[in-house]
Amino acid sequence: MKKQIRNFCIISHIDHGKSTLADRFLELTATIDKKKMRPQFLDMMDIERERGITIKLQPVRMEYQGCILNMIDTPGHVDFSYEVSRSLAAIEGAVLLVDVSKGIQAQTLANLQLAKEQKVKVIPVVNKIDLVDQTTGGLRVSQERADEVAEEIAKAAGVLKEEVIFISAKSGLNVEKVLKAIIEKVSPPQKNFQQEKALIFDFQYDPYKGVIAFVRVFGGRFSKDNEVFLLNSQAKTKIKEVGCFVPQLQAQEQLEAGEIGYLVLGIKNSDQVKIGDTVAKEKVEPLPGYREAKSVVFMGLFPNNSNDWDLLKEGLLKLKLNDPALSFKPESKSVLGRGFVCGFLGLLHAEIVIERLKREYNLNLMTSAPSVCYKVIDTSNKEQMICSVLDWPDASKIKKTLEQICELKIILPKEYLGAVLALLEEKSPKVKSLGLDRNILECQIPFREIMDNFYDKLKSSTKGFASMDYKIVGFKEANLVKLEILIAGKVEEAFSTIVLKDEAYEKGKAIVEKLESVFLPQLFDVPLQARVGGDIIARRTVRARRKDVTAGLYGGDYTRKKKVLKKQRRGKKKLKERGEIKMPQEVVWKMFRS
Ligand code: GDP
Ligand code: MG
Repeated sequence: MKKQIRNFCIISHIDHGKSTLADRFLELTATIDKKKMRPQFLDMMDIERERGITIKLQPVRMEYQGCILNMIDTPGHVDFSYEVSRSLAAIEGAVLLVDVSKGIQAQTLANLQLAKEQKVKVIPVVNKIDLVDQTTGGLRVSQERADEVAEEIAKAAGVLKEEVIFISAKSGLNVEKVLKAIIEKVSPPQKNFQQEKALIFDFQYDPYKGVIAFVRVFGGRFSKDNEVFLLNSQAKTKIKEVGCFVPQLQAQEQLEAGEIGYLVLGIKNSDQVKIGDTVAKEKVEPLPGYREAKSVVFMGLFPNNSNDWDLLKEGLLKLKLNDPALSFKPESKSVLGRGFVCGFLGLLHAEIVIERLKREYNLNLMTSAPSVCYKVIDTSNKEQMICSVLDWPDASKIKKTLEQICELKIILPKEYLGAVLALLEEKSPKVKSLGLDRNILECQIPFREIMDNFYDKLKSSTKGFASMDYKIVGFKEANLVKLEILIAGKVEEAFSTIVLKDEAYEKGKAIVEKLESVFLPQLFDVPLQARVGGDIIARRTVRARRKDVTAGLYGGDYTRKKKVLKKQRRGKKKLKERGEIKMPQEVVWKMFRS
């Protein structure tokens, strides 16, 4: 008899214990040998382990009480919510985890919302119950608070409070109850053997095997040597191997409807494979993909060594394979040399990609300041999306400028309400209560401000207790200008930014002052200027370093000394005319590492 299947994932706000719970599942089901077990087993990337965060969804197959359990661990950070929506499309149930000491947070609600949209069965769980100490009280979480959190989560998930399971993923307490609830409450996948179809929810590129597609089979069977199509890309190929995740790849005879596993496709060209595509044996209706991930933050990446451009390109291409939200295009208008303007989902996403390029490709990279997209309507009423300051049109050609507006949702303990309201100033947020001691605050805010370290500001004004989620909802008119930075009279595009006209003076002054503090003296005076339109709004000068050319002259005639100094002056004038400034890479680095 065929074993029963349950497909599920774990969703939560970051740090509420998903990876730790996944570890307990792996142990309880004896999927991983005890001796090989290490914390956060499914976080395979070095960066994930070091930072203790999950970035990529990671599937694994387990067996428990005669049932096959396919689990997908998911990331919790706002930047990676598209990864969550991808895993939700491939499963029937979700364990919703809430840290008892934190309660419901912004990504708890955001992920729950995604789960409801996909009609996924939610199993609510309160984690870190070992922190609840009824005898000592003190610093730890009280029993009342734990009950309150259970009530909140039950309400949000639309279930009875009695259904909420209290666990400690750390000690393993009650973890088996969660596995049992999955088997009991999550429906088994529907078995449809009419039409062969599988959804690609992720893939890997292997230099020997080629493209390995991670799939959820929705209909029929797939096995080695089957001829298949990718419905969207129209690619035709033959399956070279099928298998499941244990969590390493393990080949098996076939994958059938309801199962999660992988297909090694005989495709060498990764351009032909897109996450969300459907694998089928004949031309059928494709499965619904999922919300496409869209880059919203843009940064220029430039190799320190210009010979590394090809390597950078290769790295970006490879990373893009299973990171559809990463985008890039070549760029060469900057003093930083030849590079790429890359699009990311947020700053953490950018940081992770840059870190991976450095580690996995041994690249030394410089970056330009992060920027967002704006809409510019020119004097001929043509609309343009501008995502790089380098593409900003001349002021005389601009009729109107618009910027992206977000709907921002902040969840915070009531005691920090004042501090956060002060942070949001004139944004007039709507405040709603969420249980006894917490509020939800909603307002609209320019996306530009969110990218301007808003999350850090929020964290520091609430001692880390607030969490936030945002989504871009549209455009709004704003008076934007390009703030240019000139070094020795030449525009240095790497330092230029788009700012509100009202803030241009202040920002320009700050940039020029900072540049002065990191700039190394040259052989002649170097003016640093900030300019908007034709007007210089701030100026500083880095004084010349004078080489003591007379040091070698002992005594002797004064005219000799004069002659040497005159020669030096002439030389400097020549240099200045040529405008040659050595801009050491350190200066550029220091400017962007504030
Ligand atoms: P994720 O971001 O949701 O994957 O969370 P992790 O599994 O990485 O856990 C975040 C932190 O919470 C880690 O330091 C864990 O050791 C800790 N943690 C997880 N579960 C428990 C628990 O049941 N009790 C306690 N006290 N700490 C836990
Ligand atoms: Mg994790």
